Amino acid sequence: MQLTDRSKQVVNKKMSFKERIYLPAIFGGMWITLKHFFMKNNTLKYPEVQREFSDVYRGQHVLKRDDDGKERCTACGLCAVACPAEAITMVAAERKKEEEDLYREEKYAEKYEINMLRCIFCGLCEEACPKHAIFLTDRIVDAEYSREDFIYGKDKLVEPIDAPISVEKRKVWTYQ
Ligand code: SF4
Ligand code: SF4
Repeated sequence: MQLTDRSKQVVNKKMSFKERIYLPAIFGGMWITLKHFFMKNNTLKYPEVQREFSDVYRGQHVLKRDDDGKERCTACGLCAVACPAEAITMVAAERKKEEEDLYREEKYAEKYEINMLRCIFCGLCEEACPKHAIFLTDRIVDAEYSREDFIYGKDKLVEPIDAPISVEKRKVWTYQ
């Protein structure tokens, strides 16, 4: 049965003397190798040397805090709905009286996860967020050995209180 209309006629042509001694082909190959020694090297010695990224590069997400250190995310779910890769999951919880210093709104994300293997870094979650809580940054997602380690929870996503993660470089939004 013919599966495709592409076909190639194999010709068992007799090799010439030049082809039979192989030396021209060997020297031709060595000449190409030699030329590459003197060509510009396009590879970088990462991580010691890093390529400069565009200002609009979209890398690992951050869940931001407000100026008082409270988590901005109110677990509205709009980022998850906007995500074309269905990479975001969350569980909402109600803020208790004693948690007012931790969360900005009465509802907050008790659990917030992004599956970095699903994410296509489109930035739609960032655009959908009405609270300016989630941003993509210029950080590269780390390499991991297991699929589970690519599911980032709040421990990796929420910015540390004492070490805020700047998103100014991307200049996408202004804060409220
Ligand atoms: S960047 Fe795009 S794919 Fe990744 S979590 Fe956000 S919306 Fe989903
Ligand atoms: S990150 Fe923004 S859009 Fe997503 S749940 Fe939190 S507040 Fe809503």
